[in-house]
Amino acid sequence: MKHWLLPEEGKFYKGNLHTHTTLSDGRFTPEEIKKLYSEKGYSVVAFTDHDIFLPHNDLSDGSFLALNSHEVEITEVFRGSGNFKRQYHLNFYAKRHDAEFSPVFSESRVWAPAAKERVTDEMRKTDIVGYYSTDSINTLIRIANENGFFVMYNHPVWSLQNYRDYTRLRGLWGIEVFNTGCVGSGLVDTVQPFVDLLREGERLFPLCTDDTHGPGDLFGGWVQIRARDLDYETVTGALVRGDFYSSTGPEIRELYIEDGNVHIETSEVREILAISDWRFAKRIKAGDGGSISGAVIPVGGVEKKALELDHNGDDSFLRFEVVDNAGMKAYTRAYRISELFPELF
Ligand SMILES: [Zn+2]
Ligand SMILES: [Zn+2]
Repeated sequence: MKHWLLPEEGKFYKGNLHTHTTLSDGRFTPEEIKKLYSEKGYSVVAFTDHDIFLPHNDLSDGSFLALNSHEVEITEVFRGSGNFKRQYHLNFYAKRHDAEFSPVFSESRVWAPAAKERVTDEMRKTDIVGYYSTDSINTLIRIANENGFFVMYNHPVWSLQNYRDYTRLRGLWGIEVFNTGCVGSGLVDTVQPFVDLLREGERLFPLCTDDTHGPGDLFGGWVQIRARDLDYETVTGALVRGDFYSSTGPEIRELYIEDGNVHIETSEVREILAISDWRFAKRIKAGDGGSISGAVIPVGGVEKKALELDHNGDDSFLRFEVVDNAGMKAYTRAYRISELFPELF
């Protein structure tokens, strides 16, 4: 029986989940962002202006969905220039379209002049300051999760962060593995922090985003969300479940498992990888200079080894990466053994 890893039903909606506008330090107005991304075939943009949660439901229509969110920055206390300081940057996304306020707002963090002007007395009723420690960041994440928001941990490389800074974070929904703006600056993220947190047992998803500020960081990294329609709660529901993949180029059109074989259908690509949490991986490669558009990857037995050895129990996983001839990549989330082999659980 086919067990679909990306849902069989629905359409793919392309989205950029990290965008700044003239309401903080971006160059484009929200309306210009909608136009730019719509013209490139995007259906979803999350507006993540720095420190201020300003809903953009007025921009949503039958072919475009604005997700409401904001980015929070917590900087370490340290002498000297800001360029030496580690920071936590996190995006907080509202699950529901009618969320009016952020549960983790603090006026003390608002620095962009355009955002300062828009702080209201209603917003000021919330003052969750936060400081540079994993305990404090985990408190912010917990408050968000308890109040209808989900949280992405942004660009660890740009933030000068290491294993000690992120390994104890708990309850994250996602983590950036690619950020167009950071790539442009030369501070290039990797999958390693994502994998490290998976190994901690966290169930977070890998994200490719633009972190749009100006013309130099458009259209580099995106998500393809598999959903029935463009309704706000339908799309955030798909995001929260992990019904999407992230990409900087390749497409993943189908992904399912049947009789111990993973079937993956893609655009024309150079290689397809299945990667587990232990020393098991499969790499399907096109011949010299050629391409493939899918693979059938035998993974039967993986689950038995993982369970027999009690290696990680259901924290064991398989995830997939696809690489095209330009070196661009697509990433799936990690699928747990219980999802891949439900008959064993
Ligand atoms: Zn940031
Ligand atoms: Zn940002």
